[in-house]
Amino acid sequence: MIPMVNLKAQYAEIKDEIERGFAETIENCSFILGPNVQAFEKEAADYLGVKHAIGCASGTDALHLALLAEGIGPGDEVITSAFTFIATAEAIKYVGATPVFVDIDAQTFNISAENIAQAITARTRAVMPVHLFGQPADLPAIKALCEKHNLKLIEDCAQSFGASIDGRQTGSFGHAAGFSFFPSKNLGCFGDGGLVTTNSDAAADKIKQYRNHGSSVRYYHEVVGYNSRLDELQAVVLRTKLKRIDQYNAARRHAAHLYSELMADLNLTTPHEDGLGIHVYHQYTLLSDRRDEVMKALQDRRIACAVYYPVPLHQQNVFKADCAGVSLPVTEDVAARCFSLPICSALSDDTVQEIVGVIRGVLTA
Ligand SMILES: *Cc1c(COP(=O)(O)O)cnc(C)c1O
Repeated sequence: MIPMVNLKAQYAEIKDEIERGFAETIENCSFILGPNVQAFEKEAADYLGVKHAIGCASGTDALHLALLAEGIGPGDEVITSAFTFIATAEAIKYVGATPVFVDIDAQTFNISAENIAQAITARTRAVMPVHLFGQPADLPAIKALCEKHNLKLIEDCAQSFGASIDGRQTGSFGHAAGFSFFPSKNLGCFGDGGLVTTNSDAAADKIKQYRNHGSSVRYYHEVVGYNSRLDELQAVVLRTKLKRIDQYNAARRHAAHLYSELMADLNLTTPHEDGLGIHVYHQYTLLSDRRDEVMKALQDRRIACAVYYPVPLHQQNVFKADCAGVSLPVTEDVAARCFSLPICSALSDDTVQEIVGVIRGVLTA
């Protein structure tokens, strides 16, 4: 069986270090917002080039806390992508705001400044681009647009840890950003975890308050907050993997480039790198008119593959009321033809060749 992500192989390389960290934490019994969370927040802030990085319970919570800290609420519109995981738009709904979905670029699958500009109304308060599959959205253009219209820029970096533009990390461009440490993400922990980044001291104070029951001083509560802290044991895992994240992302890029090279002559669309930034290939996602046939052949050979995402958000039942009459032709076309292949830091050249061999067999038969 070839899985989408080979977490077991990755774990084998770091097992000793993580087990030492776990044993130490369990001995210390400092489980909530302890020394590893504090150290990880500092190390992540340094890596990402931001003033503040604040751990929380998940990527979904990270986006929710970021929106809360920026004061987004009822009556506000937030422009985002419909070609993403549901959590992007759920976070917008949690604060009582309305997601406004705009179409994606056909090559990068990210939302563009041009499409965002067309959706701005008097109620627009924020823009939430998603760096989908690990490729940075056009942050310089989107940031300029947000500045021109006085909008908050909140980045969904759940799939883009380590992706950058001109040496600047995603998650450092906007007013705030949310990262996910779900196990299969580029930087993943052993359960749920998330991180909010910001360069604003005021926003950082609010995020820390909201994640911990609305409190800055113990047993004094300023707002109705949440229980959304990053777990100390997860911080041990994250500190271990953060040291190796550039190596992990380089291995993903190597595998992705090999896939694309080996499939260059086949009748399908391999991922497009727009050259603007560094794509970290959270997913390796292709387009084919014969998707179902290709996927069936892979599954028959016990090779995992998946469709991210089969139903765009504007067509989900949960958003039907918000999206009456919304049509996003590029998003709908991509959702109908996309599929993703195994990719992770432990994927060997031989395995890439084997997978491409199966696809070649279908498309050249
Ligand atoms: C994974 C993901 C999230 C949510 O992260 P969780 O940690 O699972 O809550 C949000 N947005 C995108 C684009 C994601 O891929």
